[in-house]
Amino acid sequence: MNMYDIITKKKHGETLTEDEIRFAVNGFTDGSIPDYQMSALLMAICLKGMNDAETAAMTFAMRDSGSIADLSGIPGLKADKHSTGGVGDKVSLLVGPMVAALGVPVAKMSGRGLGHTGGTIDKLESIPGFSVTLSNEQFMENVRNVGLAIVGQSDDLAPADKKMYALRDVTATVDSIPLIAASIMSKKLASGSDVIVLDVTMGSGAFMKTLPEAIKLAETMVKIGEASGKKVYAVITDMNQVLGTYVGNALEVREAVYALKGDIADDLRRTCLTIAGLMLLGCKKAESLEKAMDALEEVLNDGRAYRSFLAFVAAQGGDVRYIENPELLPKAACRRVVKAEEDGYLLSVNAETIGRSSVILGAGREKKGDPIDMAAGIENYAKVGRRFNTGDELCVFYTDREESLDAAEALYRSALSFGALPVCEPTTIYGIVDENGFTPYKYNK
Ligand code: URA
Repeated sequence: MNMYDIITKKKHGETLTEDEIRFAVNGFTDGSIPDYQMSALLMAICLKGMNDAETAAMTFAMRDSGSIADLSGIPGLKADKHSTGGVGDKVSLLVGPMVAALGVPVAKMSGRGLGHTGGTIDKLESIPGFSVTLSNEQFMENVRNVGLAIVGQSDDLAPADKKMYALRDVTATVDSIPLIAASIMSKKLASGSDVIVLDVTMGSGAFMKTLPEAIKLAETMVKIGEASGKKVYAVITDMNQVLGTYVGNALEVREAVYALKGDIADDLRRTCLTIAGLMLLGCKKAESLEKAMDALEEVLNDGRAYRSFLAFVAAQGGDVRYIENPELLPKAACRRVVKAEEDGYLLSVNAETIGRSSVILGAGREKKGDPIDMAAGIENYAKVGRRFNTGDELCVFYTDREESLDAAEALYRSALSFGALPVCEPTTIYGIVDENGFTPYKYNK
């Protein structure tokens, strides 16, 4: 077997065998296959695609390239969730404690933000003292005692994905459904949970720009789950505008704390109830998604989810005074109110552009390793369908970089388009994909 023949086969659109895929993934991971050959194969896959069996074989080869977490020491079924990326996406901060409060353990490895999207690990680091690196023993003990632990991805988790993603990033081979599916699922399967709920975002701030693409990615990942013996659901959610109200690390933690105390934006509440509900359903803690969501509403209303979050923060070394009083969280030195310059209805928002404007303010990284300003970000009122009069507040910027305000404002304004006629508020959740395929969302939450 050699890489030249494997590349040639895929170049002609032929199907690769499991052995050929393992040969390529293992050889690239151990350094015996050079970057230029792997990039050629990745480009051929981008152009010619892979069928379900090839995609599963690639996922399993990538999963097996490092260690696989063994969560068997924690009793019961364990649940995990993953989002394909969004702007203002603080869902993990909420669903973790909501689900843990109902007795489902969550052992989660999360990523950092890159580009226009934020990352849970960065957000948690805005809580003074919070540690995102725990020893294996501490991680397991926290999941056993508190029901929830969230740490950064260990270097040993699917190292093939780390190397392949870095190569894809610079060879224009990120936007391939089989490669995205294999990348995400290899990490999720290596994380060891029994039930995985995927938030597949769709729209201007997401990888998948259209509903058919999002459904295809969701179905591909659900099939990989089936082939691996795990229960996987995918929820297709809207990412054509900011989720909730805030974008930025400490700002999103603050929003999450108020949300856990019951003050929660409608789109964020629906998204969290659905994702957490499917985690409970998959772990057999509810008879139906509807009943799961009812139970979750209770833990939000009666303070159990909030107390679960407090216990989680304390167990990872975070100073809970910042959660008990979120106004203590890092505050930016500068503030600018951005006001509407015309009358009209907000017709559309480019969520990626809003995300990029928050990066200019310091809330995200231009490139890997850049420092983040934890207090920076946007308090955003520009939701599609709302009517604004000249002078109404569209958003408030927070930053320590005063010099960034003009550029961020120009970019932010370019993301919005107004019109004279009213438009409907967009859907928050388009549907759910499971082993039976796509079902449009029908819940009244
Ligand atoms: N997120 C991932 O983890 N991998 C991809 O390929 C795309 C998004």
